[in-house]
Order: sequence, then C-alpha cells, then structure tokens
Amino acid sequence: MFTIKTVKGDITKITDVQAIVNAANNSLLGGGGVDGAIHHAAGPELLAECRTLHGCETGEAKITRAYNLPCDYVIHTVGPIWNGGKNNEDKLLTDCYYNSLKLAMENDIRTIAFPSISTGVYHFPVERAAKIAVKTVCRFLQENPDSFDLVEWVLFNDQAASAYETEVSLIQK
Ligand code: ADP
Repeated sequence: MFTIKTVKGDITKITDVQAIVNAANNSLLGGGGVDGAIHHAAGPELLAECRTLHGCETGEAKITRAYNLPCDYVIHTVGPIWNGGKNNEDKLLTDCYYNSLKLAMENDIRTIAFPSISTGVYHFPVERAAKIAVKTVCRFLQENPDSFDLVEWVLFNDQAASAYETEVSLIQK
C-alpha cells in the first residue's frame, strides 16, 4: 500500500521523503520561488551539479543529489508557462509529474514530495494544475504498482493547499 497526501509548508524542510521535486526553469541554474528556496537550502554544490546537466526541456526531469537538504535527491522538472491553455500546457504539466516519478522509480526512490509545479510565476491555474497533478500520479501508481510508498504535495499557500486537498480527498473515496 502507498500513501498519497498533502501538507502545508516549506518543501525544503520536509523530512519524510528521499526526494523532493524542484519546479525549475529551463536553465536549471536557479531562480525565484521554490527553486530559489531549494538552492538556498541545498547550498552552492547543488548549483555546481546543475551546471553539469546543461539545462532541461519543459516537461522533462533530471536528478541531482540534495547536499544540505534533509532528503537524498532533488528531481528538477520544468513546468509549462501558462499561456491561455492552448499551448500544450496540460500535456506538459502531465509530463512533469510522469517523468519525475519515472526518474525517481529508476533511482529506487520510494518516497517523494512535489511542490505545486507551474502555479507560481508560471501562472498555471492552481485548481486545474491540482487535477492534472493528482490524476497523473494516480495513473503512474496504477501502471507501476509497488513503485512508491509515499507521494505528497507540500503546499506553500492556502489556495494551493485547498486545491490539492480537494483532489486528493476525491481519490480516497
Ligand atoms: P513555477 O515557476 O513553476 O510557477 P514557483 O516557484 O513560482 O514555480 O511556484 C510554484 C509553487 O511553489 C507556488 O505555489 C509557490 O507558492 C510554491 N512555493 C514557493 N516556495 C516554496 C517552498 N519553499 N516550498 C513549497 N512550495 C513553495
């Protein structure tokens, strides 16, 4: 059995997972929001490792060590910038979750925490993002039974927390 849950808080402080997911940008060289917080907490060695990765396409994922963070790995994925919804945004956000889980599974990671990818400066509508996020995680877990013990979302604000809580509560019925 596995657990899917949401918590409110700062993803850099989470201690019950092997990997956290970073909502990065294409350069993988740091930015604001959750990306900035992760680099700040991990320390400069994270940026040094990210420089060796030569960026990341939108919807793809790459893995690094986590340095001073309490987890073991950071999975960096690049969410789509919201541009009205007709620019493949839904599919690209789906790919972020799917490819992050696939990369985690390939690295024997069984516990993972996501932020609300794309819903900050990338302006993806949070209720729509939450639906896609939860649906994609459920699909991955159905396709890969026994792959994970824990998948959680760590939400930084009330609106995101409420949106993801709603979607997670729907699957548990
Ligand atoms: P994006 O560029 O993908 O939109 P942002 O970092 O701007 O990424 O925002 C994504 C989400 O992460 C937003 O809901 C934001 O409030 C949240 N966030 C910011 N800092 C943290 C943090 N330390 N832990 C968890 N979530 C965070």
